[in-house]
Amino acid sequence: MKHVYGPVPSRRLGQSLGIDPIPFKTCNWNCVYCQLGRTSPLVNERKNYFPPAEIVSEAVAAVKAHRPEEIDWITFVGSGESTLHSSLGAMIRELKAMTQLPISVITNGSLLYLPEVREELLAADAVLPTVDAGTDIIYRKINRPAPELDFARFIDSIAQFREQYLGKLWIEVMLVQGLNDSENALQDLAAVLRRLRPDEVHLNSPTRPSCEPWVKSVDEQALGRAQRILGEVAKIVRPAHGDFDLTGFDTVVDAIIAVITRHPVSEEELMRLLAKWQPDRVRESLEDLQSSGRAQVVTRDDHRFWSCVEARYINENLSRCLDGNAHNQGPQI
Ligand code: SF4
Repeated sequence: MKHVYGPVPSRRLGQSLGIDPIPFKTCNWNCVYCQLGRTSPLVNERKNYFPPAEIVSEAVAAVKAHRPEEIDWITFVGSGESTLHSSLGAMIRELKAMTQLPISVITNGSLLYLPEVREELLAADAVLPTVDAGTDIIYRKINRPAPELDFARFIDSIAQFREQYLGKLWIEVMLVQGLNDSENALQDLAAVLRRLRPDEVHLNSPTRPSCEPWVKSVDEQALGRAQRILGEVAKIVRPAHGDFDLTGFDTVVDAIIAVITRHPVSEEELMRLLAKWQPDRVRESLEDLQSSGRAQVVTRDDHRFWSCVEARYINENLSRCLDGNAHNQGPQI
């Protein structure tokens, strides 16, 4: 299937059937922690990147191929920004007419200032926008949005959406060491989140390779501090455990490509997911994929991750060359 994958274990949504409605890394942000590499170029145009009927028909076929208890959520989660697909609302409504399963949308929330996007998302059972910053300066440092995207309008539009929306508004905060984990940064974020009245705030920190090599996840102490400052609504999200549905893949190569195309995976995790094949066969296939340019290895903190070749990661040495100094200690605020 081209647009639908899983169900896969999700940190926040249990077993989630993923729908990816846009081309790889089509996004209007360029987050420093993005696991899909750098966004180049930034794209801020809404359109039908793929025919909506094709996406819906794949999703319906995937739902029919599973027992209801095997899927907790159907989730629009683009390998980029889902709301850039201009038929997102129509697709949500069509799927809701065909299945009882709840539908969620993972989004950066940047297009909620458009009335039509707010209207489209009203149909979803849960909307999960990202708010990493309480100030414009931190927003620009972490999310690196397209220049026309404005922080004050971004926050105002989520508040406006909250006024209308009856479903679950679960806001994700991705904490990055040295960027948004200080007492001041968290106090600013708390003030913004109080305005947005989310049902839950999900505290996360990068566990997969970030596009920028200097990005560091925060420790338990910082997670605890964030939870204290952001209040009862904040929950710490732990890595998901579960299996990627690999039924339907006859060869180990197809299975590897399916797993790494949307999420880089640590070598250890990949070996576990592919346990139905002999380890030697898996290693041989990985080597072949790497040498033929169909997969890449990205190393972060001495951990090896496998990823698709389209993802543009910056390695530490390149970062030093380009900027003339070391970025691996992270930017200072
Ligand atoms: S993390 Fe999401 S919003 Fe940020 S650049 Fe990557 S795809 Fe875009």
